[in-house]
Amino acid sequence: MDAKQEQLARNEVVFREVNESIGEVTDALVYGEDGTLLAEFVCKCGRSDCTDKIEMTLIQYEQVRSDPTRFAVLRGHENTEAVRIVDTHAAFLVVEKLEEAGEIAVEHDPRK
Ligand SMILES: [Zn+2]
Repeated sequence: MDAKQEQLARNEVVFREVNESIGEVTDALVYGEDGTLLAEFVCKCGRSDCTDKIEMTLIQYEQVRSDPTRFAVLRGHENTEAVRIVDTHAAFLVVEKLEEAGEIAVEHDPRK
């Protein structure tokens, strides 16, 4: 894992904490076009300059968060080198962090 990827991983954790607190703020709740109650969450793509919001139902949010390795990102924001897309929604993607292949390779180096 290089420095850039490490930074991305750290940002994801920070953003998740931000999102957890947003989840409790009722101001972040909006009504969708069909009258569905939606909550706004920060995109978790890990880009330091991304502050875009994802609107999803709280049920969708709970589904994403039921697996700690999963994050919601806006379509087109996924970093396919670091994540695998596990679910596709109209406005966002659910992604799962890939195993840290580099780290595993180092750990299993027979010459160590
Ligand atoms: Zn993003």
